[in-house]
Amino acid sequence: MRKILVATITLLFVSAANAGPKLYIFDCGHLSFADVSNFGITNEETDVRELFVPCYLIDHPDGKMIWDAGLPLDMVGPRQADATSWYEESIIDQLAAIGVSPRDIDYTAYSHFHYDHVGAANEFASATLLIQETEYHAAFYDAESNPVFRPPLYTELANSTKVLLQGDHDVFGDGSVVIISAPGHTPGHQVLKLELENFGPLVLSGDLYHFEVSRMLRRTPVFNTDAAETLRSMNRVEVLTQEAGATFWIEHSLELANSLNLSPYYYD
Ligand SMILES: [Zn+2]
Repeated sequence: MRKILVATITLLFVSAANAGPKLYIFDCGHLSFADVSNFGITNEETDVRELFVPCYLIDHPDGKMIWDAGLPLDMVGPRQADATSWYEESIIDQLAAIGVSPRDIDYTAYSHFHYDHVGAANEFASATLLIQETEYHAAFYDAESNPVFRPPLYTELANSTKVLLQGDHDVFGDGSVVIISAPGHTPGHQVLKLELENFGPLVLSGDLYHFEVSRMLRRTPVFNTDAAETLRSMNRVEVLTQEAGATFWIEHSLELANSLNLSPYYYD
């Protein structure tokens, strides 16, 4: 009896301490490049040749949201010696390890629809999709003019409940999880701003930048849909980040990923 009481009190204490969202980070693959010039930087400007591919779960008291869904699931397997991309444990298995199934996900939001951000999107088709109207149009009606889009990875989302956004969106209405429109990398690219109670404000970059040096030098990849629009988005997000006093995470930064605690650890 006493044990049960102690357990109940501990549980109450834990839930009271975590009234805001929790952020889980997953390793959803790696990409390596012999030449990084497609990213608008020279091979001399950085010695980084490998990018991390993250997936995130935001566990808010009012619902669970996936932000970015990694490399395609058909790439999952042991890393080959000469591979330029690899993905060792699927996001589905990593979610299962913390007791979450794709059916438990209430919302999905992808920074954009490039193949390395929507790799498991079809698995989350039962969730409500939060997407900029411009990205929806590009992904579903104009994918052929966007070579990094791979429609088979997200065809199931055509049947999902969708909220077509035309700008910023406060997901849970309390300011703790806010989608920020930041077009240019793709027509409806977006970044995510979180207010974590203990960690503080945090901005997840999407592909606003791929490398630390891209942020420093404000360079845009050659494959962006609109370079001038990207620069405007960079300016807006930088101002917003500074005003919020937020930490800024470049999602693809391997150096950053190596310094973070991945799931089952979480940031709150
Ligand atoms: Zn991209």
